Amino acid sequence: MTTRQELRPNHRIRARARRAITAPLAAALAAGLVVTAGAVPVQAAPPAVAGTWSALMYRSLTRPQTATTLRTTIATQQATVVTRTGEIAKATTRNTAAQTGLTTATTAVTAARARQTYALTSLATAKTALTTAQAAQKKAKTAKKRTAAAAATTKAKNVVAAATRTLTARQTQTREAVTALTTAQVETRTAAALLVNATAARESAAAAVRATQQRLALLPPAETLAGQASVLSKDVVAQARTGFAVTDTTTVYGTTVHKNVAYAFKRMVDDAKRSGIVLSGGGFRTKQRQIELRKINGCPDVWLAPSSSCRVPTAIPGRSLHELGMAIDISSGGKTLTRSSPAFKWLSVNAKKYGFVNLPSEAWHWSITGG
Ligand SMILES: [Zn+2]
Repeated sequence: MTTRQELRPNHRIRARARRAITAPLAAALAAGLVVTAGAVPVQAAPPAVAGTWSALMYRSLTRPQTATTLRTTIATQQATVVTRTGEIAKATTRNTAAQTGLTTATTAVTAARARQTYALTSLATAKTALTTAQAAQKKAKTAKKRTAAAAATTKAKNVVAAATRTLTARQTQTREAVTALTTAQVETRTAAALLVNATAARESAAAAVRATQQRLALLPPAETLAGQASVLSKDVVAQARTGFAVTDTTTVYGTTVHKNVAYAFKRMVDDAKRSGIVLSGGGFRTKQRQIELRKINGCPDVWLAPSSSCRVPTAIPGRSLHELGMAIDISSGGKTLTRSSPAFKWLSVNAKKYGFVNLPSEAWHWSITGG
């Protein structure tokens, strides 16, 4: 059972570990290999190297799906560009029609105004003729001439009345032409704005395609991401040792492993199964169990004798990656792996994709550092 007093020194160790940045991690950060959620100043924040390792492995193992998703997104975005291009064509047609309408309406107003001016002149001429006819009527001396003059006056009045009606009609036509011109001007502005918007929308859609294409082009190969994770493996182990708790582990198909390697391990088991290789194994064990194993395996000394001096190589308690859930003793079909096992051959080719490395002296022992 753990008491508060026992936990305190642990906290101090953890704080020291946070302040210290180990050389490989610093190199990885300098090379821009480590991808973090934001721009984290190296000296300010604790390097969550185990989280970085997991994130890199996750990105590596999901790289094909990410690429597929990006390609699907590009196809959708390209379809949007086609739609937007169609909208530009429609907007261009409407804009051209609006320009033609504006020209027609402008011409119609000019013509209407000219006809109105002509009607005004005609009315003035008719009024002058009427005045002349009325004067002639007053001067007429004979009955015959008075009758003819009266007829001329009546005719002149009719001409004035007709010219007045024409002028009224021309004025109405001018007002209508001006209204039509105003409508055409509004439509011209609307159509021009729509064309600007449609052009901007297509540019925006095309930019989205380019951005996604760039994301796809810059997507690192899975091997690169796994390689970046492997550079960090020793730091992951060092960090996991400071303040390790059993709650840091989880169980994958009956094997207890550190949460940070759980996804990669699960994917390895799943992918192996797809290739006809069934993997199982013993992962996490407590320090107490490690001490027991040292005794069971006949190590000359529990705490000092090298691993190789035991009947079965067994790490000194506190040094085994099993105590962190970051090493797994793998068996297949109920048998511990040997170098001739099909599972060993499969792992030799594939395990590095999942961040696992073999300890050469033990065919069954696979861990994130090979230690
Ligand atoms: Zn082992």
